[in-house]
Amino acid sequence: MEGFGARMEELATELVRIKSVVGTAGEAEITAWIHDWLARMPYFVEHPEELILHRLPGDKQGRSCIIATIRARKPSKDAVLLLGHTDTVGTSDYAAAERWSTDPKCLPGVLSSMKLGTGTIEDIKSGGYIFGRGIFDMKAGVAALMLIAQMASRDVCDLGANLVFAFVPDEEGGSAGMLAAVQRLSAIAKDKGWVFIAGLDTDYMTESFPGDTSRYVYLGTVGKLLPSVYVHGEATHVGEAFCGMDANFLAAAVMSSIDLDPDLCDIVDGESTQPPISLRMKDLKDEYSVQTAEGAFLYFNFSTHSSTPDQVMARMQDKVEEAMEEAVKELAARERRHASLSGRDAAKSYAVPRVITYSELLDEAEAALGDRLALIVEEIKSAPDFSTLDPRDSSLRLVHGIHRHLPDQSPKAVVFFSPPYYPHISIDGNDEKGTKLAQAVACAVNEAKEKLGYEIVIKRFYPYISDLSYCKLPTDSGAIEALVSNMPAWPEAYELPLDAISCLSMPVANIGPFGKDAHKPTERLSRAYSLDAMPLILARTVESLAGCRILD
Ligand SMILES: [Zn+2]
Repeated sequence: MEGFGARMEELATELVRIKSVVGTAGEAEITAWIHDWLARMPYFVEHPEELILHRLPGDKQGRSCIIATIRARKPSKDAVLLLGHTDTVGTSDYAAAERWSTDPKCLPGVLSSMKLGTGTIEDIKSGGYIFGRGIFDMKAGVAALMLIAQMASRDVCDLGANLVFAFVPDEEGGSAGMLAAVQRLSAIAKDKGWVFIAGLDTDYMTESFPGDTSRYVYLGTVGKLLPSVYVHGEATHVGEAFCGMDANFLAAAVMSSIDLDPDLCDIVDGESTQPPISLRMKDLKDEYSVQTAEGAFLYFNFSTHSSTPDQVMARMQDKVEEAMEEAVKELAARERRHASLSGRDAAKSYAVPRVITYSELLDEAEAALGDRLALIVEEIKSAPDFSTLDPRDSSLRLVHGIHRHLPDQSPKAVVFFSPPYYPHISIDGNDEKGTKLAQAVACAVNEAKEKLGYEIVIKRFYPYISDLSYCKLPTDSGAIEALVSNMPAWPEAYELPLDAISCLSMPVANIGPFGKDAHKPTERLSRAYSLDAMPLILARTVESLAGCRILD
C-alpha cells in the first residue's frame, strides 16, 4: 500500500499543477495529459483501440472525455465503470494566494500568512495534509483510478470483468462530460453485449460534522430536482392596495411554506436529505412604477433519496395550494383591519388562486387555443435570444408566454420543473447487481478497518450532487413522464440521454479520499486514509467484482 500511496500523492500533485477550471481551456489540457499518460501504458500501446478520446458533440470549448477499457482476460459480459471528473471549480476564492492555488508545494506557506481558522492552522502544522485546488475534489480520486488502471492491465492480473475507466470534464458545470460519456458507454455496451454491473466514483468524502472521526463509503447517491413556481397575481395601483393580489405577496407565502421545511426531506433508513432550499425568487417587473407586480418566479433545490419527479410535483402542488389558501386568508384579514381603521366594513372577498402543473397549463391552453398553441410556442422558442437564455429563464419565458394567451387571467400558480435533474440512486434488496456491489464494498471496508484501524461507515447516499446520478434512472412508472411533461425547457434547452442511462442502469458506490473544505481555498487532502485505506477499499472492491487480484 505504501508504494501505491506515494505514487498516488505524486500523481495527484501533478494533476493539480494542471489548472483545469470548469469552462476553461484547462479542461482540454488536463484531458490531453491524462490521455498521454494512459497511452504510454504498455496495455494501451498494444491495444490503442481501447483508449478513446471522445469529443463532446457541439462543445464550444472543444472538450473531450476519455474512455479507457481494460478487457477481461477471458471473454466476459461483465463491465465495471470507474468514474472520475477532471475539472475543478474556479480559483478566485484564493484571493491574494490565487497564483499559488495549483502549487501544492508553496501553497501551505502562502496560506499560513493569511487569516485562517484554527483547524486549518493545525492541519498545516501537522504536515498531514496536501493543499491545492482540486487535490480533494477530485484529482486524488482520479490519480487512484489511473494507478488502478495501470495495475489491472498488467499480465499477472487475471481480470474476470472488463474495466471501463471514464475521465470526464464539466462535472462542476452541467455534467456535459458525463452525459456524453454515458451515450458512448451505452453504445459500447450494446455493441459488445456487455452489462455494466457497477459504477465506482472516487469523488471526495468529508466529515459529517466538525471533529467527526468516521470515514464514509457510499452505496448510492442523492438526487436533485429544481421545482419552480410561476405566480400570477393581479396588478393594482398602490393607492388601491387591496384591489389586486400582489404576486410578491403570493410568492412570499410560497417561499415560507416550502423553504427549508424539514417535512419535505426524503428520509430512507435514517438518512435524510437536506430540505428544499430557495435558489431564486424574483418578480417579473422590469421597471419602477406604482403598479404592483403581476408575476413572480421562484425555484428550489429539492434533494431526493426516494421521491421521484411525479411525487415531488404532487408534494409541491399541495404545498403551493396550502400557501395560496394561507395568503388569501391573510390578505382578507389585513383588508378587514385596514377597513376598520376608517370605520368601514370590509368589502372585498378574494378567491384562492388555482394551482396547476405545467402539463395542465398546456392542456388548458390547447383547449382554449387549439392549433394556435403550437404557433405561440414556436414563436417563443424562435426568438433570437431564446437559445442564449439561462435554461431556468427560458423555462419561465415559455410558462409566462403561454399563460398570457389563456382567457383565464385570474391569479394562479403554475408549478413546473426547471433543469437540471439528477436522479437519486439506491440499492434495494431485490437488485442482484446491487447486492453484489454491496457485498464487495462491505468486504473491502472490513479489511481496511481491520488492517488500518479506521472507523469506516457505509452509508446509502453520497450526499453531494455528482455525475454518479447519471448511471441509473428511476424505473417507477410515471416518474420520468412527470419530469418530461412538466419541464418546459425539454428538449430544446435541456435534455438527458434517457435511453442511454436506462441501458446502463447500474448500482453505484462512491469510494472517496478524505479531506476538508471542498470548494474553499483551504481545500485539502488528508494523507491518512486517502493514501492507504481509500485505495485499498477501491482496489478490493474492483477485485471482488472482477474476480482477480490487482493489489499485491
Ligand atoms: Zn467532485
